[in-house]
Amino acid sequence: MNNTSQPSSNADPHGPAQQVNWEDFRDHLATADKQGNRRWIYPKKPAGRWYDRRTYVSWLLLAIMFAGPFIRINGNPLLMIDIVSRRFSILGQIFWPQDTLLFTVAMLVFVVGIIIFTTAFGRLWCGWTCPQTLLMEMVFRKIEYAIEGDHAEQKALAASPWTAAKIRKKTFKHAIFLTLSFVIGNTLLSYIIGSDQLFHIIGDDPRKHTVGLIFMILFTLLFYAIFARFREQACTFICPYGRVQSAILDENTLVVAYDYKRGEKRAPLHREQTAAQRQAAGFGDCVACRQCVAVCPTGIDIRDGTQMECVNCTACIDACDNIMDKVGRPRGLIRFASLNNIERGEKQHFTPRMKGYSVVLVALISLFLFLLFTRSDVQTTLLRAPGALFQKTADGKVQNIYTLKLVNKTSHDIPVELKLDNIAGKLTVMGSAELTVPKEKLAQSSVIVELAPDKLTGATTKLKVGIYSKGKLLDSVNTVFVGPRE
Ligand code: SF4
Ligand code: SF4
Repeated sequence: MNNTSQPSSNADPHGPAQQVNWEDFRDHLATADKQGNRRWIYPKKPAGRWYDRRTYVSWLLLAIMFAGPFIRINGNPLLMIDIVSRRFSILGQIFWPQDTLLFTVAMLVFVVGIIIFTTAFGRLWCGWTCPQTLLMEMVFRKIEYAIEGDHAEQKALAASPWTAAKIRKKTFKHAIFLTLSFVIGNTLLSYIIGSDQLFHIIGDDPRKHTVGLIFMILFTLLFYAIFARFREQACTFICPYGRVQSAILDENTLVVAYDYKRGEKRAPLHREQTAAQRQAAGFGDCVACRQCVAVCPTGIDIRDGTQMECVNCTACIDACDNIMDKVGRPRGLIRFASLNNIERGEKQHFTPRMKGYSVVLVALISLFLFLLFTRSDVQTTLLRAPGALFQKTADGKVQNIYTLKLVNKTSHDIPVELKLDNIAGKLTVMGSAELTVPKEKLAQSSVIVELAPDKLTGATTKLKVGIYSKGKLLDSVNTVFVGPRE
């Protein structure tokens, strides 16, 4: 999506050496010079109502993000993706590899939800909720402003020689960045292995946890590299969501957009010029102050139209609103709007495309809820022991031996009892009189089933085994019983 504006000014925000041709802005990156070298972005500190709102939202989300591994629901973490043990906790519900179908449907709900959200609201996720943007703009960037000053001071400091004061500032900043990266890295680790295990690693003899410690260091260095050096490049080059959004957005999507109809032809404001004279001269509301470019953390000019690099952070809305207030023009020259809203004045509406996605989403959510609520607390696998056929007992009965696996998906121990539900016979769980499946664990045992010959229906007989706890049926499995061919 792009506007068709023909800007009247091509003054370059980055100095005369890097003149920008308005026609070819899609052919080059805002963060690279003509030689392909990185052009460091020094965004001006944003200020305004959208920035304030974003700050409040970020406090809430950052609090949830850092507290997440420590918040427990039914004794389970709010969110834990334990890849090592192949165990996931989402909103306190434990999911096992046996829940593959449920997990797949949950992933589909997530993906379709994102597509609908993006179709309606563009990259709002990126600017307002993505951990990368939240941490970069609301934590690391603010620390940088506090230590090195606003964009002009930062640029001056970067260009200045290495004096004792500069070394002090840079060392202090990077020490804080490294410490924060350590905290973020450990938070990520606790989402993977659980906070209890993380504290165990920290408190125990380091020689026993070499792998855990290596990951602590790796995550710390990774986050330090992202937030101290890589920055907006993560959104521009790495993030797959950013790459696919151009296929999802359409002319009805709400994005941060420049109202080129109102803004063009842009021209600097002359003090003696009245609004009527400006209008008569064919000028629009854009006073070519470039404040929207100065605040952009990805270094783009939103007046060129919607671009892949835009993370919808709204900093340019605030910057332009502040200018509009100063020049006595209405706010909203840059605002949340769709292309259709700007071009034809259309209001945001529920498009057929969004309706179609919504139907799919509702169907997937329904399936997910059905699977979730019909999911048994215990998952059972009962297989005939490999290599074994059958045995005959002294009193003429036939025996088969099975391998039993029980996964307890709950956070409490479950005593279980197995019964033959479709046939009279004897079922014995080897090893203990009472079988208890420990919470969130797998219990294994051997099971012997004994049937009288008159109960057999041929070489194979179907068996249905019920898994009960305190008389309540938890799960049911079907298997076969092998007997003599007679
Ligand atoms: S901040 Fe507003 S007025 Fe200034 S250049 Fe950007 S769009 Fe034009
Ligand atoms: S163009 Fe505006 S909304 Fe987009 S990233 Fe830049 S400042 Fe943020």
